[in-house]
Amino acid sequence: MRQLHIGGTWRPPLSGAGLDVVDPATETVIATVANGGEADIDAAVGAARAAFPAWRRTSATERANMLAAIAAAITARRDELARIEVRDNGKPLPEALWDIDDAAGCFSYYAKLAGEPGMQDEVPVTLLDARFTSYVKREPVGVAGLIIPWNYPLLMAAWKVAPALAAGATCVLKPSELTPLSALELGTIASEAGLPAGVLNIVTGDGATGRALSRHPGIDKIAFTGSVPTGVAVMTAAAQDIKNVSLELGGKSAFIVFDDADIDQAVEWIMFGIFWNQGQVCSATSRLIVQERIAPRLLERLVAATRMIRIGNGMDDGVQLGPLVSRGQHDKVMRSVVQAQADGARLLTGGGRPAGLARGFFMEPTIFADVAPDAALWTEEIFGPVLAVRSFAEEDEAIAMANDTRFGLAAAIMSEDLARCHRVAHAMEAGIVWINCSQPTFTEAPWGGVKRSGIGRELGRWGLENYLAIKQVTRFDTRHTWGWYLGRDA
Ligand code: NAD
Repeated sequence: MRQLHIGGTWRPPLSGAGLDVVDPATETVIATVANGGEADIDAAVGAARAAFPAWRRTSATERANMLAAIAAAITARRDELARIEVRDNGKPLPEALWDIDDAAGCFSYYAKLAGEPGMQDEVPVTLLDARFTSYVKREPVGVAGLIIPWNYPLLMAAWKVAPALAAGATCVLKPSELTPLSALELGTIASEAGLPAGVLNIVTGDGATGRALSRHPGIDKIAFTGSVPTGVAVMTAAAQDIKNVSLELGGKSAFIVFDDADIDQAVEWIMFGIFWNQGQVCSATSRLIVQERIAPRLLERLVAATRMIRIGNGMDDGVQLGPLVSRGQHDKVMRSVVQAQADGARLLTGGGRPAGLARGFFMEPTIFADVAPDAALWTEEIFGPVLAVRSFAEEDEAIAMANDTRFGLAAAIMSEDLARCHRVAHAMEAGIVWINCSQPTFTEAPWGGVKRSGIGRELGRWGLENYLAIKQVTRFDTRHTWGWYLGRDA
């Protein structure tokens, strides 16, 4: 059984319990990891607290050097890490290689940002009362609990660990029970890079392990990525100690295609927006809102291209769509397909198990048209390769349709009329809007949503600010007298 990374050493769980990790393409057990219990979380939080005073005192340069060393080590093990990711998560190898590059890029980016002026320097504040001078200092938030999902295992870890370490926070990382293996490798990489013991602790386990972390009184900040119901549970637990919380939750993002769009460009980005990573993407543009005049031509082209997608084991050459991450996820997505048909949606393609793949959690890429606005397929996050399509006549109607959701993570717009694109972008109730594309994600730009898609932003300088607390330092000039109780001297 793989052990827990606590205080710079590897140790078995105090509970002794383990969890099997399954390759979703073959349904075979590929590893057993520890199912960390409350006592393990307590030990990890204790190690992170013990490491915090020294780590917060390190200079920005020391932290930057450490992050750069981690980035280099990830790059050096690129191929091995990508293969771990494919076996753990199911995604095609080229996508996994891209994720590993992005994870290394994230550590490099925060290495640079750590030392940038203004991030942690003293920034003067101009006061109207000239007897006082003031400055603001950003300080590490303390010990951070980091809880991540399974769709981009190492990348989601990087999005949290890199800015936390850059800020001078110490942390306890809890990867998803479905995909814990690359996070454990990160523990080895960080230790080998020379990260001091206890600065990054990794406790594998299931929801109960996450619950113990989000409740622990020794945690100052919880950064969570996952589903809305779990986000509610995390925020409720964190409220007991008024912990700082950031939440990256689900989505049901719209892709509006106007009738002046290039059909091939639109089809390419629509497919990337819903079939990349088997549609298991929080920002997936799973609702296509297409203008009536081009809808028949666009759907015909989209369906034909979707049927050409090569499905199979992510390790095999040329595969574009792997299995869903787990049996549970597969069954959930398949149930939503059955429900969509019962709700009267018109199945254009897919909807079943691909021919010739008897084992593994595979499903065909699926497209439904004429989806009712109150159908679960239109309102609920499916988190699989299932696209729901509706059409519209006028711009205002498209905007209303796109915004008619409790989520607000992302939106995409496609049109040759850039003034219209920006007008519609400004009307979108979403944290991220893509124009003439869908999904490209940049470490430098903020990531996060409005409404039920979460609180706060990751990535960019906003991601670093997540792990910094603002301190005001204000000085009174003693050449003056305050004189409230003792009176003013002349
Ligand atoms: P999930 O909410 O089931 O689990 C996420 C993590 O929380 C896991 O590590 C899990 O073990 C842990 N957890 C479960 N119960 C917990 C509890 N009570 N307290 C604390 N932790 C607990 O989500 P998932 O199925 O792993 O991931 C899919 C979801 O994540 C989707 O809704 C997706 O949209 C969302 N997601 C969002 C983003 C984003 O950036 N907004 C990115 C990726 C995924």
